[in-house]
Amino acid sequence: MNRVIVLNQTARLQQKGKRTPIIAGNWKMNKTVGEALTLVDDMLEDLEVLDGVDKVICPPFVALYPVLELLEETHIWLGAQDMHWEEHGAFTGEVSPLMLRDICDFVIIGHSERRHLFGEIDMDVNRKVKAAIRHDIVPIIAIGENLAHNEIGQTNEIVTGQLRAALNGVAAEDAVEVVIAYEPIWAIGSGKAADGEYANQVATVIRQILAELYSSEVAQQIRIQYGGSVTAKNIEEFMSQPEIDGALVGGASLKAAEFIQIVAKTLEVSSKK
Ligand code: PEP
Repeated sequence: MNRVIVLNQTARLQQKGKRTPIIAGNWKMNKTVGEALTLVDDMLEDLEVLDGVDKVICPPFVALYPVLELLEETHIWLGAQDMHWEEHGAFTGEVSPLMLRDICDFVIIGHSERRHLFGEIDMDVNRKVKAAIRHDIVPIIAIGENLAHNEIGQTNEIVTGQLRAALNGVAAEDAVEVVIAYEPIWAIGSGKAADGEYANQVATVIRQILAELYSSEVAQQIRIQYGGSVTAKNIEEFMSQPEIDGALVGGASLKAAEFIQIVAKTLEVSSKK
């Protein structure tokens, strides 16, 4: 994989005051190796011609290397769904940044399923973010409130706390490369996506916090995705929002035609922004 290409492209668009849109597919615990290769094969040609959007696919660990072989000469980026922060050691079942750095360009960190099903806390997320940066893997940092917090109006506090914790000790020059995925937990896998304007309001808060932590110049460069029941039908609603630069897509990334459409519509909408 040639990560330099992606970073150069990002730099080029940033010079024009634009953030390169980024669509990432989180396959979660779905697809055998054989199925993963078939899915990638079904998407490859169409995705490859959709230039101007960073496309990242995040299959399960065992499929990463076989998928990498399919992607090697393409501009489609490969991401892991999680990783440990240590390079090696007695951590049965874990995968380290050292193992991933030659395979992946991106890694999803702090997905709500990791936080809630596997007890991951903000400090773990921060360690993983820093480890990813140390190993030249771009972290896609997932943050978001649950339904209870949403209903009592605590979204901004939750998101702000998770963001500050995740970036604790991360320098500005590294922060510009990270991707923040705002994923309201109640919208993930529920078929009930957030409203585009609501997602944009939270993304605006996220950018304000990034400006406080770093500077408004840095904050303007950091890409913010929305995630939660994104489909080919609703992607335009999110991509037309000024503060939303892409999407983290779960279920809809498992269907080749739909994922291609999501990327195609992202390109169409963001070129008009
Ligand atoms: C996700 O896995 O991060 C996600 C947003 O899932 P879905 O698109 O299925 O809601």
